[in-house]
Amino acid sequence: MFGSGIKLFSILGFEVKLDFSWIFIAALIVWSLATGYFPRQIEGLSADTYWTMAVIGMFGLFFSVIFHELAHSLVARLYGLKIKGITLFIFGGMAEMANEPENPTTEFMMAIAGPLGSFVLAGVFYLVMLMGDAVGAGSAIVAVFGYLAFINTVLAVFNLIPAFPMDGGRVLRAILWHYMGDMARATHIAARGGHFFGIGLIVMGIASVVTGNFVSGMWMVLIGMFVQRAAASADFRSDVHSMFGNQPVRQFMVTNPVALKADVNVQVLVDEYFFHFYHDMFPVTDGNKLVGCVTVRDVKKVPRNKWQTTAVGTIITPRSRENTISGDVTMMDALTLMGRANNGRLMVVQGEQLVGIVTLKDLLGIITLKNQLQS
Ligand SMILES: [Zn+2]
Repeated sequence: MFGSGIKLFSILGFEVKLDFSWIFIAALIVWSLATGYFPRQIEGLSADTYWTMAVIGMFGLFFSVIFHELAHSLVARLYGLKIKGITLFIFGGMAEMANEPENPTTEFMMAIAGPLGSFVLAGVFYLVMLMGDAVGAGSAIVAVFGYLAFINTVLAVFNLIPAFPMDGGRVLRAILWHYMGDMARATHIAARGGHFFGIGLIVMGIASVVTGNFVSGMWMVLIGMFVQRAAASADFRSDVHSMFGNQPVRQFMVTNPVALKADVNVQVLVDEYFFHFYHDMFPVTDGNKLVGCVTVRDVKKVPRNKWQTTAVGTIITPRSRENTISGDVTMMDALTLMGRANNGRLMVVQGEQLVGIVTLKDLLGIITLKNQLQS
């Protein structure tokens, strides 16, 4: 869901991107505002007016989410944290941090900034609504500002739920971290909050669907799944962080990995490599130079009767920044790349040369082993 998105514009040096899911959510918001929310607020306006109000309301929400994320990002910048950009996705936004905060104070200030920003914006919209009412602005305009005051309050309150990695969960983690002095344990507890909250939402969502509230039920299920997954992944990252610290990839990679030459044919690749070593990826080299890698998926693109006559070199995935990493970077960086590139196996290189392989599977093995030895 993350990573891909349309670049919209830059504001105060932060790049704002739109996840494709936002187009869907925008349509859904406009529809539910025009046919449900606004007609319930004020009766007797024309359908055109309701639709116009709904579109303005949607853009107002869009602005509000950016404002919320900007609040996070500006405070992060104040504390010297790098923010890569702001992405708006299916239910809100996300300021993408390049690194996790270094200390509880930074985390606390950064996490609380978003909801505070939303509360302030809610207050501003509320005042504008009152002023509009006082000067006799049309009821449609007053209702739109009323909606924006309401939705910003919802944004603030929802994000303050103590479920990591939501803002409230980050606030909770910062407080625990401050008092326990142990980031990994604090994350673990806050992530449990996120886990249970996510499960709770899914259960409530299913109950809503069963009792006939299909749309709101599906929302709850979706958000619940997101929070639950994000909590699990944050917990895992923090485990990795506390286990590997800042140790370099080279310390955990498999050295001298099985590699093959580009002129070997696919039949040999299948018989003597895949069916012999049972790895699902092999690096392909030319002399000392790494040229790429070949996976089962690449093989499947070649018809079986062409296996004898097709050289591996013609079907490889060339080496790139997505599938290679330096041995000097940290395991956390390797994990980040695996997540971003959706690729659980990275080739470790030194200049042109292949020096090892690091896989998610091995990483999980090391974590399990360490856990067993420590308990
Ligand atoms: Zn937030």
